Amino acid sequence: MPGLPAEPARGSSWFCHELPPGPRGGDDANNSRKESHSAQLNAPLTAPSRTVKFAPAKPPLTGETLESLTSRLKAQGEPAFRAKQILEWLYKKRARSWDAMTNLPKGLRAWLGETFSLMPASLVLNRHSADVTDKLLLELEDASLIETVIIRAPQEGVGVDRSRKTICISTQVGCAMACSFCASGLAGLKRDLSAGEIVAQLLQVCYCEDERTPRAKAELASFDNIVVMGMGEPLANYDALMTALGIVNADWGLGFGARRITISTSGLVPKIHQLAGEPLGFRLAISLHGATDEVRSRIMPVNKAYPLAKLLPAVRAFGERHGRMVTLEFILIEDVNDSPGQASKLRDIAGDLHAHVNLIPYNTVDGLPWKRPSPERQEAFADVLRQAGISVTLRREKGHDIAAACGQLRLKTEKEREKTVVDSS
Ligand code: SAH
Repeated sequence: MPGLPAEPARGSSWFCHELPPGPRGGDDANNSRKESHSAQLNAPLTAPSRTVKFAPAKPPLTGETLESLTSRLKAQGEPAFRAKQILEWLYKKRARSWDAMTNLPKGLRAWLGETFSLMPASLVLNRHSADVTDKLLLELEDASLIETVIIRAPQEGVGVDRSRKTICISTQVGCAMACSFCASGLAGLKRDLSAGEIVAQLLQVCYCEDERTPRAKAELASFDNIVVMGMGEPLANYDALMTALGIVNADWGLGFGARRITISTSGLVPKIHQLAGEPLGFRLAISLHGATDEVRSRIMPVNKAYPLAKLLPAVRAFGERHGRMVTLEFILIEDVNDSPGQASKLRDIAGDLHAHVNLIPYNTVDGLPWKRPSPERQEAFADVLRQAGISVTLRREKGHDIAAACGQLRLKTEKEREKTVVDSS
């Protein structure tokens, strides 16, 4: 959610991942939910294989690599060059049906239709907000709902359609990390997204954006940055994410540069080390939200498994390996982590790591007690960092008129669906 680490000075805002206004009971209800999430938290930390997977009737074409598609075609007796043609139809020419792939023999088109789904995520809703944020609600084949957000940063003189676009994508349905301020995890983890479902979000954005702004060149993706800051913990779905981003990056895919992709994590230390060793140099953002173990553990259970003494060296190692600034995201929550003491500790951490800091005023959520500090207190916090020469962004907000937080639209729609079932039964 937070961060335009590529160009921190711009100061656009993020909220892919605010808290959804889900149905909540009193304290007891909240506590029992939190306990069950803490129990689940161990799943991604110790036994990733236990995570629920969904096996669709047909695999999505958006999850195939050039290599995997070539071998499927070869097994069918088709020449290898067909794989490139098919992927070109999918990513460059944005074909929306098998029949649109006119240079493929009819028999091959029929086989493709029997073998793959062309698009595993269908657009349910595109909520356009007056402040240039769009929220796409997508339905997967098992009726799960996910959200993908388009954030436009208007540039002078070019109008909103030519603004710089950052896409915020989800990696899981729900989340197991149980951060106490974040509603995405309150219903726990439903399942991981497949690589094809992750790629499909970006292709759906392309479909929407192509209609608004014709592409200058067929091979262009319709956006400028990707942030993996939507629903879910990206590094808990590591393999699918890497396959997806490999497809997004490949010249036969969306041809999108790894340096323009930021992965945000709540701090799964072994996976940060693994990410540092990947050949593609993605950008990294850490959801820090507490500058001491005491504060961080109170709001992020992951800190108990990976306290700052383990997290910060991993962040340093990543930064050194890739020679570029890591971003530290820090939500400002009143009376939780907004004290001058936290500001000085954060200043020291960021200075030591040469990291950029994104300060994000907390987005309030119905039913949760947390609030954002006053603007004066936010500024005072930011000043402690600025005065030490730390690169810092204090975010403004966008998207409130469409409930822009990842999770909000999903929960709202799920509630409406439940109501429809109850009313008609
Ligand atoms: N699990 C990953 C990716 C989710 S990114 C991670 O933790 O980084 C979503 C970002 O939004 C995280 O920094 C998260 O802590 C933050 N966030 C969650 N709820 C929020 C809220 N109500 N207000 C502001 N930021 C929030």
